[in-house]
Amino acid sequence: MSKWHVPSDNCLICSGAQEIVIGIRERGPYERMHDYARVLFCAACDVGELRAFSYDDFVVFGEEDDVMVWSSVLVSEDVDRLRSLFACASPLNHQCECAQHVRAYESNVRANKTLLPEYGPDRHTPVGRTTVTVELVDGLAEFR
Ligand SMILES: [Zn+2]
Ligand SMILES: [Zn+2]
Repeated sequence: MSKWHVPSDNCLICSGAQEIVIGIRERGPYERMHDYARVLFCAACDVGELRAFSYDDFVVFGEEDDVMVWSSVLVSEDVDRLRSLFACASPLNHQCECAQHVRAYESNVRANKTLLPEYGPDRHTPVGRTTVTVELVDGLAEFR
């Protein structure tokens, strides 16, 4: 894996390190693929995000970028709600397959995230991102 493909979880706004609030799911890192979804929080900016990262070295050149990063804003209040509502004792365990983790993953896939530019001067710009929210449905927190 080249250095270029090592993901950054830093804040898109201030570039500072972020706390991982929820580790939703992760595959890898393997040499030719790595993907994950997680909720991050920047204390300095007091804003969270739902972030999905995908590195896939098997894509056909020119058809799709090998690295794709999606992000959506989660306001601070929703991060706090998520901390208290998330119905799993291991919120940082990306490998957990409990009902809450599955719900978080599936609702993350459906959530309206923004594909960030990966190459060029506007790499990972936070401009124009969508915002998602957190709702409790049948006792489980999900992204809407
Ligand atoms: Zn920040
Ligand atoms: Zn779990």
